[in-house]
Parts: sequence; structure tokens; C-alpha cells
Amino acid sequence: MDALHAKYPFFEGARDAVAGASASLPELVAADAPAVDRARERVERALLEGTVEPEAGAFGGSAVDVDARAELLSYPIARILVSLLDSQPAIEKYAAAEASTALDRLRADLERDDGLRSTPTPTVDLDDVLAEFDLSEAVRAEPTRGSHDPSHYRIAVGPYLRLSSPSWGDSWRLVNRALADGAVRVSREELLEALGAAIEARVREGLPFELEAGEGIAAELESRVSELKRLLSERTYAGPIDIVAPELFPPCMENLIGKAERGVELSGPESFALMAFLVGIGMSPDEVVAFCADTSLDAEGIRYQTEYLADDRGTQYPPPTCETLSNYGICHNEEDHMRVAADPLSYYETRVNDADGDEIVDWREEHGGGVEAESGGEAESGDEAGVDDGAATEAGEPVEK
Ligand code: SF4
Repeated sequence: MDALHAKYPFFEGARDAVAGASASLPELVAADAPAVDRARERVERALLEGTVEPEAGAFGGSAVDVDARAELLSYPIARILVSLLDSQPAIEKYAAAEASTALDRLRADLERDDGLRSTPTPTVDLDDVLAEFDLSEAVRAEPTRGSHDPSHYRIAVGPYLRLSSPSWGDSWRLVNRALADGAVRVSREELLEALGAAIEARVREGLPFELEAGEGIAAELESRVSELKRLLSERTYAGPIDIVAPELFPPCMENLIGKAERGVELSGPESFALMAFLVGIGMSPDEVVAFCADTSLDAEGIRYQTEYLADDRGTQYPPPTCETLSNYGICHNEEDHMRVAADPLSYYETRVNDADGDEIVDWREEHGGGVEAESGGEAESGDEAGVDDGAATEAGEPVEK
């Protein structure tokens, strides 16, 4: 079993590896193989924590040695599980979490120096990933001096439009880009973000599977699906608290905001926890952008994360539990208040309920002007939902995302 397929299970080669596995998926599920448990963990962590990394440790660390076969086979089983949840937001969040985890792994692979590439940990390089998504011809690196990795690339305008979204911010609009010879200039990090969109689309492709409830593999997975639904309903709030009182935020969130205000980059789990909390208390993407204006968090990243966290029914998947945040080193359980609540939103709700309502001033009332100004600016600059008409016409291609 090629561990690389376990690491990037959405690659075409991984599909072939699954097809060539000695046992079929129904057999594995019927036997309650380790891949089934890992699949449940994959979905649970995707929906509740925005990552599919094993709880035991990131793939590529010691966890990779455990069972690459179970890791690989857990991916198609996770896709079946998420289909059985019968929820489009769950599919969106699952695909986003798979893509986010894959991007973290890809960044780590690209950062490895040549010396470390000889370790048993399987790695890919950028060319491998571009080839995987049929982008080898569409992406060209700008020349560099010496042996440094290129800092900028040119991507053909068609794939650029297909793999980016103007909702990521004005800087992604074609009219604001250097465009020459049918190619758009992007930074290396922007290219990785576009690849993240390609991964997300690949994961989402074909979901949900049409499975007859109570029959075959759906019947075998019934208890796992019920377990996931129960967990989700326990973690689903009837509605957002819808009051923004920063002075009542739990210490974990205060610490994350303080860190970002000092200009320190937040890690993936840190920014996920903060965004999920802010959306969970009822803030809109515009409000979160305004709230985080003077921090290391950039507006495009905030919009990307908050828009997939928020759905029509409010935050369906609140921030990770206090226990998980503690494992990530985000929670220090100040004054032992983990006794009070199991997660930051519950803790905040308790503090809001205990506070004198007359004394709470909603941050949005004090800063409404700033948020409105920002929203108004967007309205002026064009349609939020798509590349402005001029850009789309210029490219002659519709925006798919
Ligand atoms: S116990 Fe929970 S709410 Fe309190 S700081 Fe830790 S994660 Fe945050």
C-alpha cells in the first residue's frame, strides 16, 4: 500500500489503490475493520473541527506508521458516511475540511528540504499536484534567481476563474490582476489556495451517493451514522446567541484575538476555532472582517472560512470542545472554568446570561458604522456573488465557483 495514497486519498492513483484493495468496502464495513472507525473520526472531526487529521497526531508524524491501509480505505467510507448524513452543509464542510487538511500536508511537503525528502514520509512536489489536476500546462513559474522556489506563477485565465472566487476578496477579481497573454499572475500562496479549491471540488464530486436507507452498506453503517447525528445534534445550537460582547468572551478566544492583534499568524486550528466562535455568536462575515480589521487575519481568509461555517440555519457546527482546544494548546483552562461548560460557545452563553443585560453593549452597535461602510464599499465595487461583468466578459468564461 502506497502511503502517499493514504496521505492524499482523493488522488486518481488512490482510487485505483482502493479498487485494488483485497477487501471490498462492504466487506470491510461488515467486518468493522479499523478503516470504519477512522472514517467516522474523519467525518466527525471534519464537521466539528474543520480538519480530518487523526486525533492521535498529524499524518506524516508517528500516526502514519500506524495503518496506512486503514487511512486510505477510511476515505471512501467517510464519503459514504457523509452521504448518509443527508445534509448538504455537512457535505460542504466535509469537503472543505479534507481540502484544508490536504493543503496543510502539501505546504509541509513543499517546505521539506531535499535532505528530509529521503525520510520514509511520502511527499509530493508542486509539479505532482499540478499534474494531478491537469494544470501542468496551465501554470508556469516565473523565473527565479538561484535555486529558490519561485515566489510567483502565471495561471491561464480559464483555470484561474474556475478555481478562484471573487467572494475571496477584491484582490481575486480579474480586473485587479496583472493579466498578460491569457495568464494571471498569482503568488505561490495564492496558487496553493487555488489548488485547495481544486481539491475541495474533487472531494465534493459525486457526493452525496445515492444509497438505499436500511439496505446493504447503509444498513451496516446505520449505528455509525446515528452516532454522528447524535454528536452533531448535541453540538448544534438552537440559534446563535446573537450578542457580541468581547468583554465576556472566554479566555481562549481573548487569547487568540490578542495573539492576532499582535500580528502573530494563527495556526489552522486556531483560526478555525476563532472563526467558528465569532460566527457562532451571530456575526456575519462582514462583521467578522471588521472585528478582525487590525489583526494578522486577512479579510479574504476570513471570508472564505466564515462563509463555509455559516449556513442558512446559523452555525451548525460550533467551535471545537474545550478538551480539543486544550489538546491544541489553545485552552489553558483559566480558573478551572472547563467545569462550567464543555465548549467556548456554551461558556460565553453562560457569561452573557449571568451578566446584567442593561450593561452589555453589543460591539455591533458601537461599530455598526464601520461595518456598514465596509459593506457599502463592496456594494459599490460590484456584485458580491461573482466576478464583475467586465471581468467575466474579458475572460469570456463563466465563474463556476
Ligand atoms: S475552558 Fe473552554 S471556554 Fe474556557 S478557555 Fe478553555 S476552551 Fe475556552
